[in-house]
Amino acid sequence: MTELTKPIAPGGTIGILGGGQLGRMTALAAAQLGYRCHIFSPDAGSSAGQVAAAVTAADYTNLEALEAFAKSIDVATFEFENIPIESIRFIEKFVSVRPGANALSAAQDRSDEKAFLEDIDVPISPYRIIECVDDLEQGLSNLGRPAVLKTARLGYDGKGQVFIDDNVDPATAYAEMGAARGVLEQWVDFKLEISVVVARSADGSSDCYTPVENQHQHHILSRTIAPARISAACVDRAETIAWRIANALEIVGLLAVEMFVTQDDEILVNEIAPRPHNSGHWTMDACATSQFDQFVRAILGLPLGSTTRHSDAIMTNLIGQDVADWESFVADDSAHMHLYGKHDARPRRKMGHVNRLYLLGSLKDRIDL
Ligand code: AMP
Repeated sequence: MTELTKPIAPGGTIGILGGGQLGRMTALAAAQLGYRCHIFSPDAGSSAGQVAAAVTAADYTNLEALEAFAKSIDVATFEFENIPIESIRFIEKFVSVRPGANALSAAQDRSDEKAFLEDIDVPISPYRIIECVDDLEQGLSNLGRPAVLKTARLGYDGKGQVFIDDNVDPATAYAEMGAARGVLEQWVDFKLEISVVVARSADGSSDCYTPVENQHQHHILSRTIAPARISAACVDRAETIAWRIANALEIVGLLAVEMFVTQDDEILVNEIAPRPHNSGHWTMDACATSQFDQFVRAILGLPLGSTTRHSDAIMTNLIGQDVADWESFVADDSAHMHLYGKHDARPRRKMGHVNRLYLLGSLKDRIDL
């Protein structure tokens, strides 16, 4: 593997596996600093490809295309978790991948992720690995109900998740999960959901954005409130947990950590993602350095920027037909609209987001949000 030892100078090319909105916003941030992006995605007209200097439209398992891609770039990264790990390891033969295959593999499988978090003493909700209906029955009698059964792999935005209360039959729940392997988690009676996005450089220096509060609808992130309305002690704990995970994974790039804050102000980690995150989109308009600027700085070996927030913010996702109101958003001086260039506004599809800014410190005590 080629290890990068010095910063990549402007004019260099970042290769991004994945063509979604996270790749798009990364490519825009990279362009602003004078870099080019090459998008590798099966979709020739992808959201990211529309704003990139080069596109390879090929399957993630096409080794010939991966090799040509790897040889045309200075550093590689990925913008979603479900890239086959073998493809990342293959690319690593030609060029540095940041963050590397190890960070990605820890986040690809929920059971590996939980084992890793337990190993480094990060608090999580009690869980069991489920490979058959018997496991599920046993798991439910150990953990109690309600609980939630999730596919070990390829689940996102609530896909492959089954909520199990007293009325649900284990065999039906197992069938409904739609996969052979899953993880059963004890249901958390949370006060709120938060996340922390932390950036880490190859030299180990790191910085994080303030913890933010995430509100979901139908398992999809609907709004992010920055900062989260939590105590200073909770902020400290959340940031310490995020740093511990980023250091243990030796992340070079970004790590997003989703967490539950329980009724007793305990923090339990739900999920990690070694990439920019939807709950970090507010930073684009409310911070000195956005998560996308920070991401490209980290993977290029540049100094990290300041994560200072100059305003409080609420980010609202535009899902499906929400985007039809675009005229009202562009006409609204208080709204910063970001659209992802997707043509088909299917239900549940993330089409864009709107950031609204508030006076610094003014959201902390609002109970009406
Ligand atoms: P996930 O795909 O794991 O991020 O789950 C999507 C959403 O489902 C979370 O953001 C929570 O709102 C909810 N959820 C997932 N797991 C649990 C749990 N163990 N207890 C309570 N709510 C959960």
